[in-house]
Amino acid sequence: MANLINWMDYIRPHILNLKPYASARDEFSGDAKVFLDANENPFDEEHNGWNRYPDPHQKAIKAKISQLKSVDAGEIFLGNGSDEAIDLLFRIFCEPGKDAVITCPPTYGMYSVSASIHNVRNVEVPLTEDFQLDVEEILKASKNGVKMLFICSPNNPTGNSLRQDAIEKLLKEFQGIVIIDEAYIDFSPQQSWSKMINKYPHLVVLQTLSKAWGLASVRLGMAFANEQLIKILNKVKPPYNISGPNQQVVLKALEGEEKMENQVAEIISEREILEQLLTDVPGVKRIYSSDANFLLVQMNDAADKYQAMIEKGVVVRDRSRVMLCEDCLRITVGTKEENKQLVALLEEISH
Ligand SMILES: *Cc1c(COP(=O)(O)O)cnc(C)c1O
Repeated sequence: MANLINWMDYIRPHILNLKPYASARDEFSGDAKVFLDANENPFDEEHNGWNRYPDPHQKAIKAKISQLKSVDAGEIFLGNGSDEAIDLLFRIFCEPGKDAVITCPPTYGMYSVSASIHNVRNVEVPLTEDFQLDVEEILKASKNGVKMLFICSPNNPTGNSLRQDAIEKLLKEFQGIVIIDEAYIDFSPQQSWSKMINKYPHLVVLQTLSKAWGLASVRLGMAFANEQLIKILNKVKPPYNISGPNQQVVLKALEGEEKMENQVAEIISEREILEQLLTDVPGVKRIYSSDANFLLVQMNDAADKYQAMIEKGVVVRDRSRVMLCEDCLRITVGTKEENKQLVALLEEISH
């Protein structure tokens, strides 16, 4: 086995030396009778505390997530969606105009958009025909300023989990930061890689409350990594990146783990029913097996069907022009009623 890399060698030097902004809530964070330190308005007429700046470290949420995920609070970063964590990772590790990242299409589009925003090269190493990582090609491409590798498992838009032995080999041999995006992990039988952040200090695991937890509107993304790396994420983030109202909503929602698990079970069961129903729809060529809350479905004239469905008020995602997903639509699993409507409509427009 190759020696593990020293992840700190990959940080942009000016970030390593950065002195972060110290907010009023950083300088004093205890209990007091009178707060006159942050130029806030003293009137809290709605009695919800919204006149005050929120906790910049989101301690209450992290304590709860720490329990739920068996990860130390110091190993958790919270962002305004996973997208904020992705953006900050680029800022921390990638020199604009010079460095590069590896992505494995077809995958989540935000990695390449974020790379473009930061003027960082995106080296694409496509998945194999069966939507698995091409480990040898990734390792070969890992040179010339490549700093990060994005892996998405279960993958969007294909829905499958990536093989664990392939990920493990990359964790051992890839020379750079490995980011595993687990936005759909709660729908998957596989274990989270968050258990491995102590074994692999160059590993960052991303999760989100946007899918299984039903809080897409709230914007809460999580990154799990070794404590030093989390400290750097915290140093670079805007001080109050999670608003007070959002923190309140999240704290309440995290008490409903059982509700979330029941919904996930229902969505998985509906996914299996939907898969069954779609099999009989004329023109459906292939339904890829999914560990997520959506199905990738290959069918005749996918782009036309997408348009025809929109005209009837049913929106799915057209992935028909995406590499390896020719003629595919990505269909989110809805309620039983919604799924029935979708299938009826597909049947109607397929004749
Ligand atoms: C939906 C999704 C996310 C979620 O992003 P948020 O910014 O947390 O809403 C992240 N990664 C993937 C692959 C997704 O499909």
